[in-house]
Amino acid sequence: MSFATALRCRKCGQEYPLQPVNLCEFCLSPLDVSYDYKAIAKVLTREKIAAGPRDLWRYQDLLPVSSGVVDIGAGFTPLVKAERLGKELGLEQLYIKNDCLNPTYSFKDRPVSTAITKAKEFGFDTVACASTGNLAASVAALAARTNMKAYVFVPSNVEPGKLVGIAIYNPTLVTVNGSYDDVNRLCARLAEKYKWGFININLRPYYAEGNKTLGFEVAEQLGWRAPDCAITTAGSGLHFTRIWKGLEELSMLGLIGPVNTRMYVTQAAGSSPIVNAFQAGSQHVHPVEPNTIAKSIAIGNPADGYYALRIVRQSGGDACAVPDEEAIAGMKLLAQTEGIFTEAAGGVVIGGLKRLAASGTIKKNELTVAYITGAGPRTQDTVADIVRPFTVQPTLESFEEVLGMPV
Ligand SMILES: [Zn+2]
Repeated sequence: MSFATALRCRKCGQEYPLQPVNLCEFCLSPLDVSYDYKAIAKVLTREKIAAGPRDLWRYQDLLPVSSGVVDIGAGFTPLVKAERLGKELGLEQLYIKNDCLNPTYSFKDRPVSTAITKAKEFGFDTVACASTGNLAASVAALAARTNMKAYVFVPSNVEPGKLVGIAIYNPTLVTVNGSYDDVNRLCARLAEKYKWGFININLRPYYAEGNKTLGFEVAEQLGWRAPDCAITTAGSGLHFTRIWKGLEELSMLGLIGPVNTRMYVTQAAGSSPIVNAFQAGSQHVHPVEPNTIAKSIAIGNPADGYYALRIVRQSGGDACAVPDEEAIAGMKLLAQTEGIFTEAAGGVVIGGLKRLAASGTIKKNELTVAYITGAGPRTQDTVADIVRPFTVQPTLESFEEVLGMPV
């Protein structure tokens, strides 16, 4: 059974039944899932969660799905105490939430797990999505797992390694000559015409909820408390808002204390509409034309940008734009201190964290969690310059000569 009761308009509060719709008919604002929290509070305890499966379904009481979940083992990824990176950045209590370790190598497996499970409940036989790459891989994998057809749409300039990581699951893969925002517009038109479960359109309320598990897990893994500071990236801004919602829900249910977490958002300098709005003191997120190597977060017109911005301000956080060269340095630093190979979006997080720590915005004794949401191996080109091997003949002499070993 599910404790989800309705969809509710984020702006005017109008309620709708739990259906595949994402916008309010009256004010065109996004719809969110609402729950019977009183009923949840009666059954949900720390012990019940701890006894659950070691994946995101341990939090099923707080997700909008009934039963028969589509599971590829997403979630419950490691929260690593980052001693060496912390030392580099001057942070004594730094943790990395390593979401590279999901089945398709990014956090997208979380929201797609809830969205596809819901798509199945609604009786869809076909799912679709607009993606910068990671989402498409996740949708294709979960669709394969539950024998659904999948149409996935990505910009034609997506990294070649990402295309392989999508095509292997055999979806109908469509590359679109345009930006992600163009892909998104095309998909909005397709969603009107075709009766598909569009993961980030008509299924978006359910897709959004899977991201809360990023908040739940960190609180549980910290011994049932919220961090002082949380830092991640924003593409659409959605997962950023749901980390916050996850923490707030746990607090409301009495599973953790009050949430005083300051929420920090990072974007690539070449695609930073949310950071621009924050720094301008504006409530309006003006679209930009993305130009960055961090393609997984290159979204010029972020659907949840306004809401992400509000959480940054409400929580007392900050917003930071990171140039590509600092993102690349961040990727290398994370790999070379903690053994975690992230894609460029993760480098943006580390680059932003470095700036915020250096300026004293995040203080050295504050418990800080950096969310690393996607793995590097499918986007190796960004750091290919790092490969400078010593080439030797298969002899001891050649080895010692080429490496200049003391003889
Ligand atoms: Zn409304």
